[in-house]
Amino acid sequence: MNKIEHIGIAVKQLSISIPLFEKLLNAPCYKKESVEREKVNTAFFKVGDSKIELLESISEDGVIAKFIEKKGEGFHHIAYDVTNITAEVERLKAEGFVFLNEIPKKGADNKLVCFIHPKSTNGMLVELCQEIS
Ligand code: ZN
Repeated sequence: MNKIEHIGIAVKQLSISIPLFEKLLNAPCYKKESVEREKVNTAFFKVGDSKIELLESISEDGVIAKFIEKKGEGFHHIAYDVTNITAEVERLKAEGFVFLNEIPKKGADNKLVCFIHPKSTNGMLVELCQEIS
């Protein structure tokens, strides 16, 4: 793992949370992107070398909507930058980690992503991401 690439935070409404995080971080939202397949709208902020990703559900049955229903707004996942996502998935599987998706899929912000099931990581959703070059 190279670094913490971003921390994902579930929010009800980007229109409220973007100005809030702009004030909190004293930095502008530099990118907004929808990932239709995942039913989310995302908004990104830079914090030094890392980022904050806000996630808003596009539909009532989306994963983010369900998450907020259960746990409320707040911390959703931590994402680690990796150089070779396929090799890292193999390494982690050999260590016993269980993946939600072992085959990398295209996520927001020009990344290939895989998610590790929270049951294998002390309840925390972990994302691996590799920049698409
Ligand atoms: Zn993420």
